[in-house]
Amino acid sequence: MKRYARIALLIMLAAGLWLALKPTLGSPRIPFLPFRWSEYFDLMDFWLNLGAFGILGTTVWLAFGALEKAFSRMWLMTGFITLLNILLELMQSSIPGRAMDKADVWAGLFGCVGGIVVGMVLQLLSIRKKTGHKEPQVLFLDQTGRLGGAELMLLDIAAARAADSEVILFQDGEFRTALENVGVKTSVLELGDEASTVDKQAGLKRVLRSIPGILQLMLRIVQAARSFDVVYANTAKALIIGGPAARLAGRPLIFHLHDIIADGHFSLLNQQALIHCANFCAQSVIANSEATKAAFIACGGRAELCVVIPNGFRIPTERSPASEVKALRAGLGIPSDAWTVLMAGRLAHWKGQHVLLEALKVLPAAHAVLLGDALFTDEDRKYAQELHTQADAPELAGRIHFAGFQKETMAYFDMADVVVHASVYPEPFGRVIVEGMLAGKPVIASRAGGAAEIVQHEETGLLVDPGSASELADALKRLQGDSRFAMELSRQAQQTAQDIYALSAVQEKIESVIRQTASRVFRKESETAETQTIQQAA
Ligand code: UDP
Repeated sequence: MKRYARIALLIMLAAGLWLALKPTLGSPRIPFLPFRWSEYFDLMDFWLNLGAFGILGTTVWLAFGALEKAFSRMWLMTGFITLLNILLELMQSSIPGRAMDKADVWAGLFGCVGGIVVGMVLQLLSIRKKTGHKEPQVLFLDQTGRLGGAELMLLDIAAARAADSEVILFQDGEFRTALENVGVKTSVLELGDEASTVDKQAGLKRVLRSIPGILQLMLRIVQAARSFDVVYANTAKALIIGGPAARLAGRPLIFHLHDIIADGHFSLLNQQALIHCANFCAQSVIANSEATKAAFIACGGRAELCVVIPNGFRIPTERSPASEVKALRAGLGIPSDAWTVLMAGRLAHWKGQHVLLEALKVLPAAHAVLLGDALFTDEDRKYAQELHTQADAPELAGRIHFAGFQKETMAYFDMADVVVHASVYPEPFGRVIVEGMLAGKPVIASRAGGAAEIVQHEETGLLVDPGSASELADALKRLQGDSRFAMELSRQAQQTAQDIYALSAVQEKIESVIRQTASRVFRKESETAETQTIQQAA
């Protein structure tokens, strides 16, 4: 196509130059047409100019365009063609009785940009790569390089099908290293600065400024997606960018919904963008709890797309050695006999670490370990500082231990007497709750969202009202004072967690969604491969 476009371009340029020069050389009649060359320019009104430069824009793009440098090339080409346009207008104005027509210059500019966009679309449609693999090939997309709950889940999913998967991250970080360590091919396509600072609460102005970066990344994903059977968006930004990209690439899309799409978690604008994008672009939505599914539907999401699959976990066959736990306690400065509460998870206001600190004021003998760090926003980092200030209060001094983010968390769970989850907004799922249950620890969780689905109150843990420090303090006192009850809760919780959240079962369910979603494209290709094998055998 490139070669033909370049030949067409040469012919167009030669014809254009000839048309432009002809009137200056005299004004004979145009063969077969009832007007003279000098009258030709009168016919080149706004609309003709628009069309002519549109065709020129498309041809130039097909001849020299490159999607990975879409924006720089587009501006360069538009500038070049506009210069040419102005030059032609100046030449015309040298003909007696004719003046430069600004409207024609504008027409040329609009035509050229429109033509270039048409060229891009044609180029996208022409890139069709066949994969020819046995298993569906999946392109996973995730916006962050940090290891949050959604990323830890993706790590396990991609690791289990590493030979048939690739991951694109929009940010570099320890997530890339973790994926590469388990053999998953991973690349980083960075979002522009503007787009990467747009968070879940962003308003219209910030969203608009992020558009060029988003479009650029989208085009690169379209190109990449054509080598896969399915695109799998694991986060909100991955959906917004990957959804339209999957459609343009003609690939089905799975959206793994790890968030509650509602006030408190997302601005109204972002809620609408996510829902429309999922409804329009996704063939399947995997919700990580009934709560995330319900919020998706309440916001306008299509119920028929949605299937609930919880997070999966490796069931540990052995726990940390006592010596490791002892060393950990000593390292954190916790007395060996101190009753210890663990709260694991990133430091963010909605995760409610401040509620635990408030509750601990009335449990003078208890220590707490806050495992995790501020991962995503400036707001989170500010909150982390506030927590340190809160922990310095005389009633708490020396009892709150900040452990920072740790890749290996098992010993922290093993060290704890109780695991607390205290999110003040509904938690979409709550991996840390299941991890506490699997560790055989009694758990206390906020009565909302996915957390309330994981924990059966008084059977596999205790539920308290979100944000209520006094209820949390009462639940902690109850477990501290009644070790038999605490032990019975944790025994039941461990069994339940092993039954429901085993990774292998969850992976199987996700694989089945991938197969179903891919089936349209996948079936066609397997059939072709089978036919070829049969023909070769014959
Ligand atoms: N986590 C971790 N290291 C830390 C703190 C937390 O690996 O220092 C893990 C934690 O064990 C859990 C995940 O991060 O698996 C947090 O998931 P959750 O669903 O609780 O919260 P999310 O980050 O998804 O909001």
